[in-house]
Amino acid sequence: MTSELVFYLIIGLIAFNFLLESYLDYLNYTKFDAQPPAQLEDLYDESEYQKSQAYKKDKFKFGLVQSLFSVTLILVFLSFDGFEIVNSIAREYAEHSIMVSLLFFGILFSGSFLLSLPFDYYFTFVIEERYDFNTSSRSLFWLDKFKSILLTLVLGGVILGLILVFYSYVGTDFWWYTWILVAFISVLLNMFYAKLFVPLFNKQTPLKEGELRTEIETYAFKMNFNLKNIFVIDGSKRSKKANAYFSGFGSEKRITLFDTLIKDLTNEEVVAVLAHEVGHYKKNHILINLVVSIITVGFTLWLLSLFVSEPMLAQALGVEEPSFHIGLVAFSFLYAPISLLTGILTNILSRKFEFQADDFAKSTYTAEHLISGLKKLAKNSLSNLTPHSAYVFFHYSHPPLSERLKNLENNS
Ligand SMILES: [Zn+2]
Repeated sequence: MTSELVFYLIIGLIAFNFLLESYLDYLNYTKFDAQPPAQLEDLYDESEYQKSQAYKKDKFKFGLVQSLFSVTLILVFLSFDGFEIVNSIAREYAEHSIMVSLLFFGILFSGSFLLSLPFDYYFTFVIEERYDFNTSSRSLFWLDKFKSILLTLVLGGVILGLILVFYSYVGTDFWWYTWILVAFISVLLNMFYAKLFVPLFNKQTPLKEGELRTEIETYAFKMNFNLKNIFVIDGSKRSKKANAYFSGFGSEKRITLFDTLIKDLTNEEVVAVLAHEVGHYKKNHILINLVVSIITVGFTLWLLSLFVSEPMLAQALGVEEPSFHIGLVAFSFLYAPISLLTGILTNILSRKFEFQADDFAKSTYTAEHLISGLKKLAKNSLSNLTPHSAYVFFHYSHPPLSERLKNLENNS
């Protein structure tokens, strides 16, 4: 295989991915106007249904423009040896190979961040605003961007820096050093995410004493589930959409409820949603997901170690001298089919887990309140009630609402 062939392989993979994603989006689009499934017929009234149709179409068009823009950009960038240009800039301003790599990724990150900014801004202040979801102010938007840049630069810089240090000392063995590092960070993030990172963006307050707290505690006690940390997060400062999630293990485990969820749902519905989350925990889904992701990372790093110092990869991107950063970029393009596959498998597993968590909520609490809660959540976020099955297969981490309701209504 020559470097030219690798170059065309990369181009081919990018084109394939773009065509596949566009085709899936298109298939999903053809279902936008379909009649909602029987059990959801009464969810929206006529004008609400039209609003949800318009929302789907707006997001579809937006996605199309965005992906057309990025695929064109990346193809042009590759054709003009963009990575070689960035590589020489980095080499001009930095001496040490680790600094060169850090600067190289710093430039790429800044570039892609700046290019995605107008899209983020448009999505938040035009599309989400149009459907009355957005509650974020301009200043909050910019502050969020600033904080996430800082966080990415610090965290990303430190992690990447360590990987580069490993690579420079132990060569291709860097992969399992990195694996241990990433596994360690994943567990740490899972444990302390709510304490370390969430406060940078949101205010969390313990759920105050009252009916809801009592009902949650009664349920947790009945389930023999030690739950001291129940927090309410001020999600309403950015969006009207509602959510709830579970994080941490052991004594660090906590449930986080969006204030919007408490506002929209009755107490029983909130407990039902929480029972679903408890189901994920009791069925070890959180642990399994963590283990699966750590195994996937290990496999990816091992593959990377086989290719990263291959001169042909660097030459395919127009760079004569192989280096870790160029090898990593080329590898990430070639890895696309594998990540497509792992993405599909992860989604299949995740949809299975969702059914199991629903079943858990049904058997330990009630199906009725989860059904009404899920319906309200879908309605308030103008959810797509008629996704295409191929789109679901590739992209949905949760089963479509109609399938979840069918499962909850069955054998109850
Ligand atoms: Zn779930």
